[in-house]
Amino acid sequence: MPRRIETVVLHDSTTPIIGDVQKGGNVILTTVDSLLAQARANSLWPLTFGLACCAIEMMSASAARFDLARFGSEAFRASPRQADVMIIAGRLSKKMAPVLRQIYDQMPEPKWVISMGACASSGGVYNNYAIVQGADQVVPVDVYVPGCPPSPDALIYGIMKLQEKIKKESGRYKIIELNPRTNEEVTV
Ligand code: SF4
Repeated sequence: MPRRIETVVLHDSTTPIIGDVQKGGNVILTTVDSLLAQARANSLWPLTFGLACCAIEMMSASAARFDLARFGSEAFRASPRQADVMIIAGRLSKKMAPVLRQIYDQMPEPKWVISMGACASSGGVYNNYAIVQGADQVVPVDVYVPGCPPSPDALIYGIMKLQEKIKKESGRYKIIELNPRTNEEVTV
């Protein structure tokens, strides 16, 4: 059970308490933020964005042997509108960089980025004029997965790390009410 969720057992004087077992109802107290974070973290939909050899390992991660579906992330989407995590799998050329940025911008908030492999994270063996020396020069990266290529297990571990991060940042987003006339935040 996540740390943020507390279980409170309601009882009155007529409810006998026997060890850890109590008669009566269980009430789970949590915040909407925490529930949203749990839902988001456990149903990440990656954007199909294979750029080079690392993409083969990314595809393997969703196949039967590694079964990314166990972590709720097997639904790779071809449209940025339907994805919330971009996995940059492979070297990023300078020609491709503006395209990557545009696709990132088209993804709805909240969104995250995983940089998969040495090339995406730092240029790798391609220390030359044609390759961006780190995808974080173009988009904000949340998790770096090292290796050349990283194994499917390594990518899954990176996704698990991203899930931990999403659960921790549950307070990052808040629901606010706006005054329709002034567009200012309403104090409740
Ligand atoms: S890190 Fe290795 S496997 Fe991945 S794109 Fe670069 S050269 Fe290919």
